[in-house]
Amino acid sequence: ESSLLKIEDLTFSFRTYGGVVKAVRGVSFEVNAGETVGIVGESGCGKSVTAQCILKLNPEPPGFFEKGSIQYHGEEIITKSDKEMRKIRGMEIGFIFQDPMTSLNPTMRIGKQIEEVFASHPEISKKERKERAIEILKMVGINDVERRYMQYPHELSGGMKQRVMIARALVGNPSIVIADEPTTSLDVTIEAQILDLLKKLQKELGTAIIFITHDLGVIAKLCDRVVVMYGGKIVESGMVRDIFYQTGHPYTNGLLNSVPRLDLSRDVKLVPIQGTPPDLFSPPVGCPFAARCEYAMKVCREEMPPEFELSEGHYCACWLRHPNAPEIQLTRF
Ligand code: SF4
Ligand code: MG
Repeated sequence: ESSLLKIEDLTFSFRTYGGVVKAVRGVSFEVNAGETVGIVGESGCGKSVTAQCILKLNPEPPGFFEKGSIQYHGEEIITKSDKEMRKIRGMEIGFIFQDPMTSLNPTMRIGKQIEEVFASHPEISKKERKERAIEILKMVGINDVERRYMQYPHELSGGMKQRVMIARALVGNPSIVIADEPTTSLDVTIEAQILDLLKKLQKELGTAIIFITHDLGVIAKLCDRVVVMYGGKIVESGMVRDIFYQTGHPYTNGLLNSVPRLDLSRDVKLVPIQGTPPDLFSPPVGCPFAARCEYAMKVCREEMPPEFELSEGHYCACWLRHPNAPEIQLTRF
């Protein structure tokens, strides 16, 4: 496996009237060719901002890169111009955003919206654009493609619109697709169909996926590895199996207790995590989760926990994982 995307110490902030918001603080992770990496966390944890940094879609200003690097095929993204990014978006790194209503242009025909991905690529002829659009619409399971090609978004159902979004993300044959909560607005049946479709397309096309969600159930179905974010930082990362069964971080454990478990019966009580995420205007000096953590110790409020490697490829930023820390069994409901 080769590293396609390598993010190191990414730190991105926004200047606002209230001060500087530190949205992403020292985030590092890699994505290898063909794998699916999930980024999970509550809203405001920095997962969407991280995704938008990879595509340079955060407005600058008010946003700005404080430090770090984002290497795509060994090339730095952060220093690329708008013009260079327009060539990369869609063709190298595809993306699917949250809400199909806001991300498809209601005044533009489906076919044209898909072909927009080629806008910065005059070398691709009109004829080829249409052929590729039609081909990808078929691949995402849209019937009666010639007619759909001419339709507007309002003529499509929610699930169908999401298929069009996926088609648009894949038409340029990118090596990575970033999907930010693409199924959140769909009902469960349609969501399951869309996840199956993504999985199938990934197998066929070999595309790597970064899947952003607040839902660990979706992560379990789709992802190889997972990155758990809290307060703009990565608190735990590893293979999905390790995260679910060798959980290292109290926040991850809280997330697991607050979503329906696939491996347990349905009537298990779900326990939401109490409290609210940290204020990112002035993030705590110590562990970002300390104010909500039932295991918090003195050191947690004073010093940021470093990353401890629990097993190969499984990292956890929590003082409980220090070799001298007391043995604690996280409560699993
Ligand atoms: Fe809880 Fe301390 Fe671990 Fe943070 S470092 S999650 S406060 S035990
Ligand atoms: Mg978001």
